[in-house]
Amino acid sequence: MKIRNPRTGRLDFNLNEVSLDEVAHLAANLRASQPLWWQLGMAARVKAMQDFAEQLAVHREALVAAVAEDTGRWSESELEVDVTISTIQRWCKDAPELLAEAPPRKAQIPFLEIQPSYLPFEVVGVISPWNFPLLLSLVDAIPALLAGCAVVIKPSEVTSRFVAPLQEAIRATPALAAVLQIVTGAGETGQAVIQHVDTLCFTGSVATGRRVGELCAQQFIPAFLELGGKDAAIVCDDADIEVATSALCWGSMVNAGQSCMSLERIYVHECIADAFISRLVEKVKKLRHNYPDIRVGEIGPVISDKQVAVIRQQLDDAFEKGARALCGGQVLELGGGFYCEPTVLDQVSNNMQIVTEETFAAIVVVQRVQSNDEAVRLANDSKYGLSAAVFSQDLANAYRISATLKAGGISINDASLTGFVHEAEKQSFQCSGMGGSRMGAESIRRFIRKKSFIRNTGVPSPWWFKA
Ligand code: NAD
Repeated sequence: MKIRNPRTGRLDFNLNEVSLDEVAHLAANLRASQPLWWQLGMAARVKAMQDFAEQLAVHREALVAAVAEDTGRWSESELEVDVTISTIQRWCKDAPELLAEAPPRKAQIPFLEIQPSYLPFEVVGVISPWNFPLLLSLVDAIPALLAGCAVVIKPSEVTSRFVAPLQEAIRATPALAAVLQIVTGAGETGQAVIQHVDTLCFTGSVATGRRVGELCAQQFIPAFLELGGKDAAIVCDDADIEVATSALCWGSMVNAGQSCMSLERIYVHECIADAFISRLVEKVKKLRHNYPDIRVGEIGPVISDKQVAVIRQQLDDAFEKGARALCGGQVLELGGGFYCEPTVLDQVSNNMQIVTEETFAAIVVVQRVQSNDEAVRLANDSKYGLSAAVFSQDLANAYRISATLKAGGISINDASLTGFVHEAEKQSFQCSGMGGSRMGAESIRRFIRKKSFIRNTGVPSPWWFKA
């Protein structure tokens, strides 16, 4: 399969599509290797993962270059590699305590004692998207490996250049090589992965997530689905306008808006709307495309060409129905790549796709509201429910609003904080996902099955037959 370069439009990468037989073979090898990995114990697995982090650091330059080729952006690629390494280090520190076996305890029935235990799933599948290709391929794999599982990863076909340097780092970590495999390919390869694993972590669109959920149901395996969003921000009448505009300019435009927790809708109180909007537009207008120099500018290209059609279609639909661009409003073609102009739209309404559907671009829509209640009603009037943001200097008010929002991670007086605060557990609401929290202590426990050893301490059970 020939893969397009997001900066040049050239089909300059040959993706090796792993055959379905090969997926089955690799998964069988993983299944055979997993018991030894589990029996090694937590300390040895931590050591192996620390070695892996070191190898990623050794291969940092090649990884950053490959991720940058995949995505067309530079500073986020550096950050992505560094965050991946620090995520491994953090899990190595936290996992032993989070999975430490509790001592035996007395049951409520006094002569019985419970010894809690667990067993990891044998093979965990990971299917990941193109917006943070390296990080989202490893974010679930890391805790799964530490928990004692073997892992097979199927990255997005759109961004698989990073796989080669990642394989190098895996090969250089002998203890890991037998329990971590990467299979490249498109949807069919993803479907094959589902056939051979015991639990699945999927990150991607709602449409594919729904299909993946159905396939997992047929296989009778748990699926953890991290899907799309249309995150809303509520800017109250007492919000600090400087804080709100800086946070939302960043939260809606970073990674060219290609982030699941991108703020795509803003509901601002009428009485500060003029000041807020003009300051937001001023800040958004300062953002530059990273063209022609990938290292200069904040806004990279649209990574997937399929997304370009979605963005253009949503913009056309919005303009036809009366939306107004306060800045931006087009997708430009520069040097063969597609770049969305950093865009703020007003005069929008809920009959426009750009208000109801995920856009996944450097575009934010602003609507004026008369009250907090109206803002909450509009924010919740969505099929999605990933995260949100609230801006108010009255903290009691901010928490009250946060409690009523149908979303898992709510940032207060800032934006997209769930990407940084790993210990904050959250779940997705509505179509934005399903399954346990990817963040916090619950995250690693998604990969184990709890067991209990229940011991009779020496008293004949009163329910036994008397005869
Ligand atoms: P996508 O759904 O098109 O593809 C995701 C992955 O699924 C790819 O690896 C793809 O090859 C694979 N796939 C496609 N069809 C499949 C099938 N039938 N069976 C198994 N696998 C299949 O998503 P995308 O366009 O790559 O990524 C963008 C989406 O990801 C956005 O909606 C974004 O919001 C979402 N996302 C969510 C989070 C989160 O944490 N909630 C994080 C990042 C991205």
